[in-house]
Amino acid sequence: MNTIPANTSSNSLPKWGALERSQWLAQQSVKRSYQFEVVNKIEQLKQNFEVSQYGALEYDVQKYPLYLIKNRHWDDQLPVILITGGVHGYETSGVQGAIRFLKTQAYQYKGQFNFIVAPCISPWGYETINRWNPYCVDPNRSFYQALINGELSTQQGSEEANKFMQAISAISNNVYAHIDLHETTDSDNNEFIPALNARDGKQPEPRETPDGFYLVGDTDNSQDECMAFIIEGVEKVTHIAPADNQGCIIGSPLSQRGVINYALESLGLCAGVTKAKYRITTEVYPDSPKATDEICINAQVASVMSLLEYLK
Ligand SMILES: [Zn+2]
Repeated sequence: MNTIPANTSSNSLPKWGALERSQWLAQQSVKRSYQFEVVNKIEQLKQNFEVSQYGALEYDVQKYPLYLIKNRHWDDQLPVILITGGVHGYETSGVQGAIRFLKTQAYQYKGQFNFIVAPCISPWGYETINRWNPYCVDPNRSFYQALINGELSTQQGSEEANKFMQAISAISNNVYAHIDLHETTDSDNNEFIPALNARDGKQPEPRETPDGFYLVGDTDNSQDECMAFIIEGVEKVTHIAPADNQGCIIGSPLSQRGVINYALESLGLCAGVTKAKYRITTEVYPDSPKATDEICINAQVASVMSLLEYLK
């Protein structure tokens, strides 16, 4: 097999080339079923929602269809709420939380909002419990509009992000609020961050995993009042992450209790993919001794509902 020679970075650790990437991929395996845990549940939603397929991952088009779910009786006069999950496929409660919200709560908001929901943007990552896609790309660093316009090198892109951006392009300027459902896990520190450092030829830097729920807002439009409202709502379901000794969560200073802000667009984050007034990322901590799978799903649902209550 031909391989691209490994690059070297300024601090002289070698970056991964094609060989290392293929070795990484060879170590991954399917650990759960996207069909059984996700697609079958989406099928059941067809009774009450418009379900459409916006493509499939080229990696295996049979196994990895991609879905968008909208409410019936779309009303152009109502604000559009975008809910995304499974941008990081391993973050289970984001996927299951989006589905649970639709199944059990969305009916209450009939006539108040339009919903467009992508419950699992990275189905290969869901099945193999991975942060990256099969090509060692983090989908949540690849939501660059310029990629689908052909203005940016495709190396920075991911099929997961590109297909989703194309699927929502007709409505992305009309989205009023976007909530992207994530988790921060112990495997970030134990597995995914070490792999990222190895891939990019960087020295590892220790990072504390915050014990509890937190939100990531937009540096350019932080919507502090809304964020505080969501934290208050989620706190009824699960505990909120405290700041570390430096007053930070995952290296970023708190803007208020349980909230940090990121430059969503320049980092290529999914939450920066629309021009929505409210752009929010949730972070649930499933590995806490105080959390269960069910608490984590309920925390995601509570995040969505608190946002909607705030907007009502
Ligand atoms: Zn994530």
